[in-house]
Amino acid sequence: MSEASTPIASKSVPKAQRHRIDPATIEYTSEKQKNAVQALIDEFTVSADLLKAIKDNFIKGMNKGLERDGETLAMIPSHVMGRLDGTESGSYLALDIGGTNLRVVSVHLSGHGPPVTYQTKYPIEERLKTGDAKALFDYMADKVGSFLDEQKIKVSPGTQIELGFTFSFPVLQTSINRGKLIKWTKGFSASGMVGKDPVAYLQDAFTRRHIPVRVAALVNDTVGTLLAHAYEHPDTAMGVILGTGCNGAYIERINKIKKWKDAKEDVAADEMIINMEFGAFDKERAILPLTMFDNKLDRKSVNPNSQILEKMIAGMYLGEITRNVLLNLVDRRLLFQGQISADLNQMWTFETAYMSAIEADASPTLHATRKILESTLNFQSTDKVDRQIVKLVVELVGRRAARLSAAAIAGVLEHTEGWKKKASIGIDGSLFEYYPSFDTDIMDGLVEVFGETVRTNISIGLAQDGSGVGAALCALLAAKHANGPLTPNVV
Ligand code: ADP
Ligand code: MG
Repeated sequence: MSEASTPIASKSVPKAQRHRIDPATIEYTSEKQKNAVQALIDEFTVSADLLKAIKDNFIKGMNKGLERDGETLAMIPSHVMGRLDGTESGSYLALDIGGTNLRVVSVHLSGHGPPVTYQTKYPIEERLKTGDAKALFDYMADKVGSFLDEQKIKVSPGTQIELGFTFSFPVLQTSINRGKLIKWTKGFSASGMVGKDPVAYLQDAFTRRHIPVRVAALVNDTVGTLLAHAYEHPDTAMGVILGTGCNGAYIERINKIKKWKDAKEDVAADEMIINMEFGAFDKERAILPLTMFDNKLDRKSVNPNSQILEKMIAGMYLGEITRNVLLNLVDRRLLFQGQISADLNQMWTFETAYMSAIEADASPTLHATRKILESTLNFQSTDKVDRQIVKLVVELVGRRAARLSAAAIAGVLEHTEGWKKKASIGIDGSLFEYYPSFDTDIMDGLVEVFGETVRTNISIGLAQDGSGVGAALCALLAAKHANGPLTPNVV
């Protein structure tokens, strides 16, 4: 069963305005409470000096990762070369397998204006996730086949339609359309795939079914985000994901990718997109201002001691950090009169989306905040001062996340000297899309590093569908830069 195929609307930014609370207006009930809140402000505030120090450390990490494999910042060469200028045209397919759904997208590029896309989503049943890998890839090929029928896409005899494959699992990529699955994540365990090439499996399934599709590119979502943004903003220098996780990709000069042994003299382009995997930054815990609340979250996570920066920035974690802070205040009897709701006592119950609503709460009595605490989290009652403190804690956690994102982006802009000229940064992910003023906080952080010039030079915007449009553009670039015939696709 599939949902009806729907055209994808171009994204706008519907998010609410942020209304910050002035800590001086909080009606504290005791000196102890006031001091505890002040201590939180001190602990969660990333000063301009600290932001710059993190940026410097981040640049060192980038250079290490470009020199050799196995460094904290993986700095993975994407094998995507060349830039887009927005005049590209043609029809391409994208296949996106992430967590719950399989998405097939047709992307039509006219050479001017935004791409026109149509998509259909198909569920992935549990038995396919955990069964035999061949069955999973056969299912994907079948769905692409039915999509071509539904959309009445005709392919002239003897030709193939090019497809960009966004496969959101850890892959060691060896060429634009070759890679090896390192491990399954997100509940997948289909047998016989680890160490194998997902592109070869998919291509084989198409070939056996006589479906005229060529898997031209294996795509990472940050790289797709950069390309999708570049189609409409050709000066795009970086793609960033601020969603469940966080990561970034940027355009690097090939001569700086010291570890890339396959660099050939005959490669026409002199630039390649690097997938940084920057959520892993500071595994060493050398520079990030980790609090006891971050340490608790890390310890209880499924991947302790890894993705340290991601755990301070990404949508999956911000609500849980906030919950940890609130629990600590409750345990010290400084909030909710020492009472806790059974809901808030459970891990992961304080969603990051609540933080967006609380940031936007402009009512004098903090009505929206009250609704979340009392209706959603089932507190029997809350005082105004409770709600004021909750709002302040949310702001501290959210603002720190945006400023740490700024430190990483500033690292890339300084390393590439990108801040000195006009450039765009495309950001995708619900955190960036919906969290009030995340973009403003990031830009303010960049201004602290580079001065006011950066405000006029760098434009930060919400990126379009990286795993659809971006993957299609990746297939286009792959076809453009393919040097020599591709090796046959055999499993
Ligand atoms: P993915 O990263 O899997 O592609 P998204 O970009 O939609 O998915 O990001 C999902 C994350 O965004 C979740 O961790 C969720 O907490 C967060 N999120 C969803 N809605 C909001 C919101 N309104 N405000 C802030 N964060 C949100
Ligand atoms: Mg996403």
